[in-house]
Order: sequence, then structure tokens, then C-alpha cells
Amino acid sequence: MNYDELTLDRFMDGLVKRNPGEKEFHQAVHEVAASVIPYILDKQRYREARILERMTEPDRTLIFRVVWEDDEGNVRINRGYRVQFNNAIGPYKGGLRFHPSVNLSVLKFLGFEQTFKNSLTTLPMGSGKGGADFNPKGKSDREVMRFCQSYMTELWHHIGADVDVPAGDIGVGAREISYMFGQYKRLAKEFTGVLTGKALEYGGSLIRTEATGYGNAFFMEEMLHHRDDGIDGKTCVVSGSGNVAIFCAEKLIQLGGKVVTLSDSSGFIYDADGIDQEKLAWIKELKLERRGRIQEYAEKYGCEFHEGRPWGVECDLAFPCATQNELEEEDARKLVSNGCIAVSEGANMPTTSAAVHVLQEAGVVYGPGKAANAGGVAVSGLEMSQNSQRMSWTADELETRLRQIVTNIHRKCVRYGQEEDHVNYVQGANVAGFIKVADAMLAYGVI
Ligand code: GLU
Repeated sequence: MNYDELTLDRFMDGLVKRNPGEKEFHQAVHEVAASVIPYILDKQRYREARILERMTEPDRTLIFRVVWEDDEGNVRINRGYRVQFNNAIGPYKGGLRFHPSVNLSVLKFLGFEQTFKNSLTTLPMGSGKGGADFNPKGKSDREVMRFCQSYMTELWHHIGADVDVPAGDIGVGAREISYMFGQYKRLAKEFTGVLTGKALEYGGSLIRTEATGYGNAFFMEEMLHHRDDGIDGKTCVVSGSGNVAIFCAEKLIQLGGKVVTLSDSSGFIYDADGIDQEKLAWIKELKLERRGRIQEYAEKYGCEFHEGRPWGVECDLAFPCATQNELEEEDARKLVSNGCIAVSEGANMPTTSAAVHVLQEAGVVYGPGKAANAGGVAVSGLEMSQNSQRMSWTADELETRLRQIVTNIHRKCVRYGQEEDHVNYVQGANVAGFIKVADAMLAYGVI
């Protein structure tokens, strides 16, 4: 038995050999393994059962063809996926991403991250992720509908309210969830909470749309309170302009923060006066309903628009809320030299490993996505609970629960990540997330 020889290098060599070329997946696993391996070195039960090796292999991966017809009558083909990562503590749970960059490596990294994130919420949710290399940008509603129906025609065999419960992610919002739910309902002949992020009329939950962004702002608030500080009066740089970024900005404004940027794939706006609630309402309409470009804001309110990402803007707090690896080493250096004191991730793995290193070395407080953005999937978990009970809770009740869940996640990060004079949130989130899933897997024996 060679479990005594578990080292990070050896473990990663094996993982890279088994999963060649999957660089995002390697990056996500490396970060977790670097925290978990030292923690389990003196815990023979985890090593004997090879829990970490088992956790890095998805339960199963589904890959399928999605054929649909565009408005001109052309036949179009995309690749659909669902990675059912781990169901040790509950049904597979995680979003669907529709974006041209979607591939197996990206979905495996996201599914793997989801294992720890979902565990941290304390709710009974396993992990999964799926999607397609379909680009909804520039497609008509009808085209999106036909794509979603075709995607679900294959996926429905593999999901269910107690089996696997997908939700939204990049490129999948209320419109896509509705088309997919309608198709599932028709094929399965059942009305259950098989997807979350549904509209209110047919079983959705209040606060779900806001939850990821609100949760991220709350997590930053927790990290600052822990240092006897707060959000009030702080200048905040936010990237992205989807659900996560917009509702993160909304909560930051409510908590007294001054939000000066938002971005999309063509660049960022810099509003030195701060985006207020009124301007934000306009942005919601622009981005979430009209699907317009963020540059239109600069034209309307007469502020600056720049190409690239907003990390060179002077700020106290930074919130990467767009996509993976959007904050690189050079960006981290700019944040540090501009006096940024804390970073909280609304997106999944938006900060590269080298950039995380720069931030941590400089003493910037860094909240990793699996802890900082877990509010979204947490409210998905609450949507599942409401669906099973066939009832719905009020917005106040849900926001209170969300707030409590974020406080608990922060507490766990402190418990497992406290180092001499600071909290290592990466260590805390990884170890706390690991323990619950690992103990459930141990209890099941070797299966
Ligand atoms: N896509 C979101 C995430 O990355 C939400 C997943 C869900 O609600 O299932 O956590």
C-alpha cells in the first residue's frame, strides 16, 4: 500500500496523466490538493481509502450531440455535456453554461469546485456541472428555444429532482431555464423541482436571481468585519455585468460601498462618481433584458469607457464577477500597488494561481469563489426545499437564511484556515468543504 507517499507533486503527476490537456481542471485540483494533502497527512483513514483520488474522478461524464435548426433553416450541431461529479452528500447539483469556451476541462473544473462549494453551504447537495459550446449571443429567442429543447431532449434521461438538479450559469438565465423546464416537463410527464433558477410562476424562489451577487458582497462584509472593518465608504471595482456582478454591485451600494466599474467582453466603464441605484436599474434593463453592451452606459452617463479589464482602477475592494482566469499576475500587482485590501470572487476561479500568490504575499485578504459565491447555489438549495414542500418563503425569510449561510461559511473558513495572524480562506474553504464529503464517502465503504 503506497498511501504513505502522498505528496502534492506525485498526486498531480498522476492526475495530469489521467486527464491530459485539461488545464483548468488541473489548476482547480492543484489548489485544493495543496490545502488538503497537508491536512490529511496524519489522517490515515482518508489516505487508506484514497478519498482525494476518488474525489477528483467524476462519478460519470455525459457527452452528447445537440442538433437544432436556426432561423434560416440551417441544421446546426453543438456538443452538450453533463458532468455528474459527486453525490455523496446529496443529488448532483450545479449550473449549466452555454458559451463557446465550454469544453470538458472547463466543466470538470467547475464540477470539482462545486463539490466543495456545495458542501460549505451545509445543505444536502452533491456536485455537477454541464452545458454546451453553444453561443446564445446574437441568437433569436426562437433559436435559443430550439437549442434548449434539443439539449433537454437528451439530458432529461439523466436528471431528476432527487437525482441531478441543474441550474443557470454563464449564458443560461431565466429564459433558458424556462425553455428547458418546459421541455423536461413534457418529456418526463412530471412537475418537480428538477431545475433551479425557475421563474416565480412555476416554482422559482425569491432572491435566487440576486443570491450569488448578494452572497459575494456579504462574504466580503464578513471578511472585513473579522478585521474590525466594513464596506461603508470603500471604493469597489467590480468586473462583469451579468447577474452576479449587477447584484453584487446592488448589495455593495446598499452597504455603503462606492462601485466605480462594471465590464463585459469589450471593456469596462469607469464612473468616478459611483454607480447609484438609479443608474443600476438602467443597467439591469440594458444587460438583463435588452442584452446590450456596457459601453452604452458610458454614452448615456458620460463616463469613461476603456478596453480590457478594470484591475488598474484605484480601489479598496475588488470583486471579479465575470469568468475564470480574468485576473492575472500583472493585474494582481496593480491592485496591490493601488492599495486594494481585499478581493472576493463572484465568478468561479477568476484569479489565476500566480495572481492569488501575489495577493496573499502582499497580505491582501482573498476570498476564493467556492466560499465567496456559494450564496447562489445555497439559494438553489432553498428553492429545492421549497419545491419539495410545495410552498414558498418570503424574500425577507430567504435573505435572512442566505445571510446566515454566508456567516456560517465564513466561520468554517476561519476554523480551518486560521494561521498565526491572519485567515487563509483558501485553506479554510478547501479543508472545511472536503471533510463533510470525505466523511460521507468513508461511511459508504469502498464503492
Ligand atoms: N452556477 C452557479 C454556481 O456556480 C449556481 C449553481 C446552482 O445554483 O446550482 O454556483
